[in-house]
Amino acid sequence: MRLAPGSTIGIIGGGQLGRMLAIAAAQLGYRCHIFDPHEAPCAADVAADFTRGSFEDAAGIAAFAANCDVVTYEFENLPTAPLDGLGDKLRPGTHSLTVTQDRSVEKGFLEAAGVRIAPWAQVDDETSLAAAIDRLGFPLLLKTRRFGYDGKGQAWICSPGDAAAAWEQIGKRPAVAEKGMQFSGEFSVIAARGKGGAGAVWPVSRNIHDGGILRRSEIPPGPPIEDQEVEAVQVASMIADRLGHVGVMTVEFFACAEGPVVNEIAPRVHNSGHWTTEGSVTSQFEQHIRAICGLPLRDTRLIADRVSMDNLIGSDVDQWDALIGEPGAHVHFYNKGEARPGRKMGHVTRVG
Ligand code: ADP
Ligand code: MG
Repeated sequence: MRLAPGSTIGIIGGGQLGRMLAIAAAQLGYRCHIFDPHEAPCAADVAADFTRGSFEDAAGIAAFAANCDVVTYEFENLPTAPLDGLGDKLRPGTHSLTVTQDRSVEKGFLEAAGVRIAPWAQVDDETSLAAAIDRLGFPLLLKTRRFGYDGKGQAWICSPGDAAAAWEQIGKRPAVAEKGMQFSGEFSVIAARGKGGAGAVWPVSRNIHDGGILRRSEIPPGPPIEDQEVEAVQVASMIADRLGHVGVMTVEFFACAEGPVVNEIAPRVHNSGHWTTEGSVTSQFEQHIRAICGLPLRDTRLIADRVSMDNLIGSDVDQWDALIGEPGAHVHFYNKGEARPGRKMGHVTRVG
């Protein structure tokens, strides 16, 4: 069933991803209704409706969903119980959330799918941390199972003396320990999957991180990433199928000597796909709206040989005046208010 223009799309989460989804949806004639706990989330600026509510509030979410024709999310750290009652109205469904919001569950899913991942161990206390160090060696990265993003909830352990401080630093929360991987680059596959299983993927970008935060994405990704693209795209498509995912999702990879190693999955549009808005025939945001509304997926080809996307993090956004005047720079500001260090405030895409 194709949802007709004029229909209402509910978006749970009101950050910049919701904002860019709502802009794309508006172009196709849809109304968006944002659900978010904050007072003035930046997605609400560009949407038809906004309900302020808690992600825990099952009755509130049910009432919100009753006013929407389809409901999606831009954020994976949602309690799934309040969403269970939405059934097929929720796209993607809760399975994509359950698997990806907990790093331990996600790794179990990836292992069962036969995907190459970093050697890892579950860490619940200091005893299991010591066992993980024995088995994995140094360096290793301790990551909280839940609620991590932009490198938050992570601590490196490079020698036995680091273990106690790292455990303290992540708040002694349930975690996974991962072997520190040697890679020659990071990249991501952004994949869309329609309700009937039809898929579309974009060319992969090289992703450059600093302190756990994405700084820049570049296309073409260059060697050795481009040699791993075919395998990585197969892996990402297989993951989307196994999740029964409807919409856009992202798989982050390390380009290692042994081949592409999956780092993590995001069940949503992704920062490393922001370049698709001006750099590809169809943006990740429009494609997600198409997938959840039952519309045909569109062409994901590049529209130039080279595309780059730079994040504006914290005070980077103070350069807005110069960026606005730069010929050829596609500038996006999210209007998130205070430019705190590490906060994603906007991005700039350059094509060609
Ligand atoms: P987040 O959810 O914060 O994006 P990630 O697991 O993607 O968390 O980690 C953030 C960044 O930290 C990665 O993009 C990568 O640069 C680095 N990183 C994560 N895991 C490893 C690892 N096992 N080995 C080496 N670097 C890693
Ligand atoms: Mg990541």
